[in-house]
Amino acid sequence: MKPEWHIETKCIQEGWKPKNGDPRVLPIIQSTTFKYDSADTLGDLFDLKISGDFYTRLSNPTTGAVEAKIAALEGGIGALVTSSGQSACLMSVINIANSGDHIISTVEIYGGTFNLFNKTLREMGIDVTFVSAEAGEDELDSLFRPNTKLVFGEILSNPGLSVLDIEKFAYIAHKHGVPLIVDNTFPTPINCRPFEFGADIVVHSTSKYLDGHATALGGAIVDSGNFDWAASDRFPGLSTPDETYHGLTYTESFGRAAYITKCRTHLIRDIGAAPSPMNSFYLSQGIDTLHLRMERHCSNAQKVAEFLEKDSRIEWVNYPGLKSNKYYNLAKKYLPKGTSGVISFGVKGGREAACRFMENLKLASIVIHVADLRTCVLHPASTTHRQMSDEQLAAAGITPDLIRFSVGIEHPDDIIADIDQALSAI
Ligand SMILES: *Cc1c(COP(=O)(O)O)cnc(C)c1O
Repeated sequence: MKPEWHIETKCIQEGWKPKNGDPRVLPIIQSTTFKYDSADTLGDLFDLKISGDFYTRLSNPTTGAVEAKIAALEGGIGALVTSSGQSACLMSVINIANSGDHIISTVEIYGGTFNLFNKTLREMGIDVTFVSAEAGEDELDSLFRPNTKLVFGEILSNPGLSVLDIEKFAYIAHKHGVPLIVDNTFPTPINCRPFEFGADIVVHSTSKYLDGHATALGGAIVDSGNFDWAASDRFPGLSTPDETYHGLTYTESFGRAAYITKCRTHLIRDIGAAPSPMNSFYLSQGIDTLHLRMERHCSNAQKVAEFLEKDSRIEWVNYPGLKSNKYYNLAKKYLPKGTSGVISFGVKGGREAACRFMENLKLASIVIHVADLRTCVLHPASTTHRQMSDEQLAAAGITPDLIRFSVGIEHPDDIIADIDQALSAI
C-alpha cells in the first residue's frame, strides 16, 4: 500500500496518472465526443451500467483528472468540476432541494451566492433563511422545518472574512438530519480541511486560488461520502428510483457516492454547466503549485496586515491572522496554516478616500477578481455587492468604506511600498 502523501505531494502527483508511454503532462482531450465500436456499449454507458466518457457535457478525461486531483486534496470520495463557482453552488443545492423545500444559509457569503439564493432559488420555489454565522444553537435549531434540506456556509467569507465555526454548524445540521455544505474557496484545501470537522459537501470557485492565475473560470463540488442519504425520507431524489435511468436508485447503485454521482448524471446532464477541457487543463496546472502559492499569499498578507494595523492613516483592518481579530481563535483552529491572502480594511476619510487610495495604487490593480497571484483590489459596496441594501451589507459584514485587498505573491516589501505611497497621495 502506498503511504498517505502530504497535501503538497498530492497537488503535484494526484489526478493524471500516466501509464507506460503516456504523456507525462495531463493531455488536453479537446473533443466533445468519444468513439465506440458497438451500440450496446454506448447503451450500457447511457444506462450507467458501465463507466466511461461518451460526451464532454457529462465527463471528459482531462476534466476527470482534475476532478480526481481535487477530490484527493479535499479527502473526498469524488468531485465534479463545473464551468463556474456559481454553477457549483447552484448544483450543490438543487441536487437535494426542489421546489417547495427550504434551506438555511449563513448571511456572510459571497454577493453572487447571496443573489443566487435570495432571488433565483426563491423564484425556483426554494425558500431560504439567512442567519448570522454567530447565531447560537437555540436560534439555529429554531430555523429548521420539516422541509429543510441543507445548511450552507462559507468557511472564510468573501469579503467580510468571518470564519465559520464548522463543527458547530455540522453538529446542528446533523442533529436535524441534513448535510452541511461549505464553500472552501478562500482557504483552499491547503489551509482548511472541512471534512475533518464534519462538513459533508465542499464547493469551490476554482476561478480563485485553485486556478490562481486568473486564467480559467471554474467551480467544483466535492463529496465527503460521509452523509447517510438513505437514513431518512428527506432525500427522495437520492433514495427513490430515477425514471430517467430506468428506475435506478442512487443510494442503492452508488452507495457513499450517491450525491456526487447524481450531480453528474442528473444535473450536469440537464443543466450543462460543464467546463471546457482546456480550462480543466489550466486548473490542473494551477493546482500543481497551489501549496507554494498559498504559503506565500499568507505570509505576504500577514506582513501587509501588520503594516496596516500600525498605520495611523488606516481606520480599521480585518485579517483573521491578526491577534486583535475577533476570528483569530477560530482561524487558529480551522485554518492553522494561515487564512488566505485577502485582507479588508478602511482608510480614514471613508468611501471617497477609499476610491482615491485605490486609484493611487501602481502595483495593485483594480479588478473584479480576488485570490489571484497578482495583488489586486476592489471596493465591494460599489461593485460585487452593489445589489445589496445597506442592511444586507451590514449583515454580511461589509461597510461602505471596505476595501478588499487581495495580496499576491510579489515581494512583500513592494506591495507595502505601493500601499504606503497610495495612502500618502490621498
Ligand atoms: C467568486 C466566488 C464564487 C463564484 O465563483 P465564480 O467562479 O466567479 O462563478 C463563489 N463563492 C465564493 C466564495 C467566491 O469567492
